[in-house]
Amino acid sequence: MLAIISDIHANLEALDATFAAGMKLGVDEWICLGDVVGYGANPNECVERVAALCSVVLFGNHDEAAIGGMDLSWFNPWAAEAAQWTIGALTPDSRKFLSERPYRHETGLATFVHSTPVAPEEWNYVLRQSDARAQATGFATPFCFVGHSHCPGVFPVDPVEATSEPRHLINVGSVGQPRDGDPRACMVVLTEAQDSEPDIRLVRLKYDVEAAQRKIIEAGLPEMLARRLEVGA
Ligand code: ZN
Repeated sequence: MLAIISDIHANLEALDATFAAGMKLGVDEWICLGDVVGYGANPNECVERVAALCSVVLFGNHDEAAIGGMDLSWFNPWAAEAAQWTIGALTPDSRKFLSERPYRHETGLATFVHSTPVAPEEWNYVLRQSDARAQATGFATPFCFVGHSHCPGVFPVDPVEATSEPRHLINVGSVGQPRDGDPRACMVVLTEAQDSEPDIRLVRLKYDVEAAQRKIIEAGLPEMLARRLEVGA
């Protein structure tokens, strides 16, 4: 069973709860779509965990910001403040790991990116069906898994010309800062079955939100970043 996770955002409580639940379900491979850091108080611990447990970890925009690769004026004030804090908190090992992340991963079944398959390095969002339709030329696999918006969702996408198979772009939501009004962590689990469609499920997981909030406050990060965790916004 494959689990796809994204947007951990240095929330160790959410990440550990997600790994623990996945192990119980029988997950034996993990793919992370990026944004391991930024917003939360445990960037190095989250980098260590994903580096040890995930077979693939992609590059996200907050990872790019955290290694000093981005003009922070693109971010809202809280994100910029958190990115600045993260730049100062990262160990050389974490920085090296994040700086070596690829933008894209592909198997026969699926394409994996942080933002969009058409231009993964441009950090555009897929928020609605029309956004997803514009991504049809960016992948040739039956499925494309993305993160970045922190809102889980499934979007049908036009088939590749040569085949008539329906295709889907799937947003796996966020482990560490869900924004769909549900504060529980998100992950997607995929089980491949012989002679039939793979089984793909969104799993929501309760975790110790208060502990994550406390750490954000104690670290001196913007209070708003703690408050939003309890409402999933
Ligand atoms: Zn993110």
